[in-house]
Amino acid sequence: MYDPDKYALATVVERRDVASDLWVMRIAPECPLPFRPGQYATLCLILDGRTVERPYSIASAPDEDTVELFIERVPNGELSAPLCKLPVGAEVAVRRRCKGLFLKEFPLQLEPHLFVATVTGVAPFVSAIRGQQRLAAKDVLPEGFAVTLIQGASTSAELGYVAELTRLANELPWLTYIPTISRPWEEPGWEGETGRVEDVLRKYADAAGVRPGHGGVFLCGNPQMVRNARAIMRRSGLAGKTVREEQYWPE
Ligand SMILES: Cc1cc2nc3c(=O)[nH]c(=O)nc-3n(C[C@H](O)[C@H](O)[C@H](O)COP(=O)(O)OP(=O)(O)OC[C@H]3O[C@@H](n4cnc5c(N)ncnc54)[C@H](O)[C@@H]3O)c2cc1C
Repeated sequence: MYDPDKYALATVVERRDVASDLWVMRIAPECPLPFRPGQYATLCLILDGRTVERPYSIASAPDEDTVELFIERVPNGELSAPLCKLPVGAEVAVRRRCKGLFLKEFPLQLEPHLFVATVTGVAPFVSAIRGQQRLAAKDVLPEGFAVTLIQGASTSAELGYVAELTRLANELPWLTYIPTISRPWEEPGWEGETGRVEDVLRKYADAAGVRPGHGGVFLCGNPQMVRNARAIMRRSGLAGKTVREEQYWPE
């Protein structure tokens, strides 16, 4: 039995399988779950009589009716493996409070943003971009607002939001989306960037106009990428609060 003071029940209302170990899931909590882009929901299942919970960044915009998550099934992962088996209609518990300070400073005033993600680490950025898109429609974006999003994966099948983000980047003058794949030899037809995020980071930071004292870098996902990208940014003179991080698991 879930502690009703801590958890609300949520129903899986939609599921999109992205690759064999990756899926996008929408849940409808039984009560409102307020959050800001960049925050995470804590999902919970009772497994063998134990309450097991893990945080997942939210990909939906705050004003959407349901909460979207982009999840990777970790081999033998205690929670992600059973979560991956949940069909539409199943129930999962979710902590009543969403948390996280990752995008607390977003949007920066009059400064470029460089968002950097590996695979599911794109989720908070999708939330932020969807949120800003809604504000842009109402003409209330901060002046000079600009976002460059770099997302790395092994293959394009793992990018998850490539169709939506490519379309949005074509429609929204303030958004640049750079998907990059590290195993291009498996996809001879791929016309985008190749290599890991770290290989192209410097080039796009320069193109975005991010430099010491101007702009912010936000790193999310794989801890190795976060560490390498942080070091690359530091060598460019970007450090301290200019570079914010959300690491999905300990290295
Ligand atoms: C703030 C925050 C937000 C997060 N948001 C997301 C999200 O949006 N989507 C998402 O899929 N995950 C996200 N995670 C990771 C998630 O919380 C779990 O750690 C992950 O689902 C594995 O949990 P598990 O119980 O299945 O594996 P466990 O049994 O806890 O872990 C198994 C092992 O796998 C490692 N591991 C964890 N995740 C990965 C991974 N993706 N790839 C390789 N190894 C891994 C762990 O270090 C551990 O050693 C987030 C983590 C944090 C801290």
